[in-house]
This record gives sequence, C-alpha cells and structure tokens, in this order.
Amino acid sequence: MILPGATLGVLGGGQLGRMFALRARVMGYRVVVLEADPRSPAGQVADEQIEAAYDDDAALDLLAERCAAVTTEFENVPAGSLERLARRVPVHPSAAAVSVTQERIAEKSFLREQGFSTAAFAPVQQADDIERAIAATGFPAILKTARLGYDGKGQAVVTSPEEVRAAFTRFGGVPCILERRLALETEISVVLARGSDGQVVSFPAGENEHRDGILHTTTVPARIPAGLEAEAERLACGVAERLGYVGVLGVEMFVAEGGRLFVNELAPRPHNSGHFTLDACSVDQFELQVRALAGLPLVRPRLLSPVCMVNILGDSWGAGAPRWERALAMPGVRLHLYGKADPRPGRKMGHLTCLADSSDAALALATAAHAALRAS
Ligand code: ADP
Ligand code: MG
Repeated sequence: MILPGATLGVLGGGQLGRMFALRARVMGYRVVVLEADPRSPAGQVADEQIEAAYDDDAALDLLAERCAAVTTEFENVPAGSLERLARRVPVHPSAAAVSVTQERIAEKSFLREQGFSTAAFAPVQQADDIERAIAATGFPAILKTARLGYDGKGQAVVTSPEEVRAAFTRFGGVPCILERRLALETEISVVLARGSDGQVVSFPAGENEHRDGILHTTTVPARIPAGLEAEAERLACGVAERLGYVGVLGVEMFVAEGGRLFVNELAPRPHNSGHFTLDACSVDQFELQVRALAGLPLVRPRLLSPVCMVNILGDSWGAGAPRWERALAMPGVRLHLYGKADPRPGRKMGHLTCLADSSDAALALATAAHAALRAS
C-alpha cells in the first residue's frame, strides 16, 4: 500500500489529470505531473510539473524517481513510455491494457474474442480491404481512424462504397475500422475501478447524450430498465476482468436493437461521463483512481442524489465570458472549470453537476443552467 504523504505521478496535463491531482492532494498525497504545456490544467494544481514530452526518457526516469506509483490521464501515451516507467515503479493501468484501448481494431477485436457484443466491424488497413469490410458491416456504416480519434474526430458516416473510399483517402490512408452504424435507442456508460487484488466496484450507469460527436450530458440514474442497468455494470466489470485491468476504466455502450447492449469503446482512465460522481456519490471516480493506484481499499460508491452533468464547451463563450452567476443562482448546480485559457469552440472548458429529485428534473436543471451561461 502507498499511504498518504507519498508522491503519485500522472502522465498528461489535461482536466482528468487535474481532477486526479486535486483529489489526491485532498487525501494527503503529493502529485507530480509530466506534461509539456507549462500552463496545463493538471500542472496548475500539482505539487510539481515535469515539463517534457511523454516520450522523453530523461523526464520519464525523473518521474519514476520522484513517485511511488504512476498513472495516466491520457490514453494516447506511447506504450513504450509506460513500459519504461514500469521497470522502476508500479504503473496502473498497464502498458498492455492501454495499448488495447488506444487502437480501435485491437480494442474491438479483444471485445469480440472475449464474447462481448459490438457493432459488426472490420479493419481497413489499406484500400484493398474496403470491399471485404463492407461485406462484413453493410450500410449505413461509420469509418473511424484506428488511432487518435476522440470527440467524434476522425469519423465519417458512410452509405456507399464510394463514400468509404473517399473517407479513407480523406483520413490519409491511415489504418481505420469500418463499423455498422446502429440505430441507437440510448447511449450509456459505466465507470468502474479494479484493484490489483481483482476487487471491482462500479458506479451506476450514466445515460449519455452527445452533440456533434461530443458528450453533452450524462444523467444518472439512467432512464433504462433496472435489469439492463445491472447487466451494463456486470458487463463492464467483466471487460475489466478479462483485460486484467487495474485502475479506473470507462466503458461506453450502446443500447440498440430492442434493448440489447453493445460495447462501443473503452477509456483507460476516469471518463467524462463519470464527472457526476464528483458531487453525487459517496466516493468519486478520481478518489477510486487514487485508491486503485495506491492499493487502498475500494468501496462500492453510493449514489446520493439523481444528477445530470453537462459539459461546458468553448462555445459557451460566444459574445463574452459565460454568465456563471446565473447558473450558480440555481440551487443544486455546481461549477467545475479546468483552468484552460483559450475557449475554442468544441473544447471542453469545464462542466456543471446539477442535483435534483429525479433524473428528469436533473436533466431539466442542467439544460436551464447551461442555457443561462450564454451571454445575451
Ligand atoms: P470517440 O472516441 O470520438 O468518442 P466513439 O466511437 O465513441 O468515438 O464515437 C463517438 C459517438 O459516435 C458515439 O458516442 C456515438 O454517438 C456515435 N457512434 C459511434 N459508433 C457508432 C455506431 N457503430 N453506431 C451508431 N453510433 C455510433
Ligand atoms: Mg466515445
């Protein structure tokens, strides 16, 4: 066990690293962030930042020297960096687990091999694979780059062989995956934590609404049948077990084809759809990340209130700074900002967690609070 007072390291300087660092420091740990950006969200709140790229060997060695254990907030860290760190300190999640989740072909193949339902898919490594891939998926389909996609980037909806070819070319001929596009009834996700002793605890499933490929709201309890909710938690925990995963894992799922669950993708870190846990649960996803990393006991989180989390994107700036005071005047609304200077459209700047007496009321409150931010 790594006890409070020790130093924990995190690779990556974004908002997830920031919330990890804040929680770890509340619990009495010191935190070192490795991140090249000198004004990163996580670096601002860490005890120390090592300003370097994720593949800088000297910086990685310094991080290993400073820390009792290291985690990541960013799935695109090179596996080699995690392996290098792991020779000197405990690293969770492992390079092997992160590698599976950072490449869509490996991720979906792993899920299928382990018997988890996914949308029909096929790899498109080169243009010659397109015909065979279409035979496997049919139309409509989605072509996704195998690596580095997020918030719907690197994706194209395609309805004909010509469109697949055009999208593949547009993506630069990099390896892709073609997936059947399902008619979604709902999108949900389960965030869980698994310890190195194999103990798993999960949060209740969140019901997710995306806008333009970016998560907009997460509502909890998800408005789905109780049996399906329980199945989603079981399924997510099963994925973590099969991966031999240690740490916090986000499992995105689709509900489609008459209430069936399909696994969409895995995030080897706390998840945007788990931010509701910061204000609505007895223990939040970042505390469980700290606990799993430090080998402290994991406890089953209790949901204290129905809640809706709504993301605040750079779009909320529009004419000027958002009218924070209007949202904060609404009882049940809490503000989380990530310390980013430049509010570009589509960029995640912060979020609101909105507590109310029911899922419907929480979603309505979040919608009102989010709309109130826009200066007019
Ligand atoms: P990202 O890494 O950008 O989150 P996802 O694979 O999760 O990539 O896709 C983003 C969103 O696009 C999903 O949340 C969902 O709304 C939609 N989407 C992705 N794949 C499918 C699919 N096979 N069928 C229907 N909708 C999909
Ligand atoms: Mg996703």
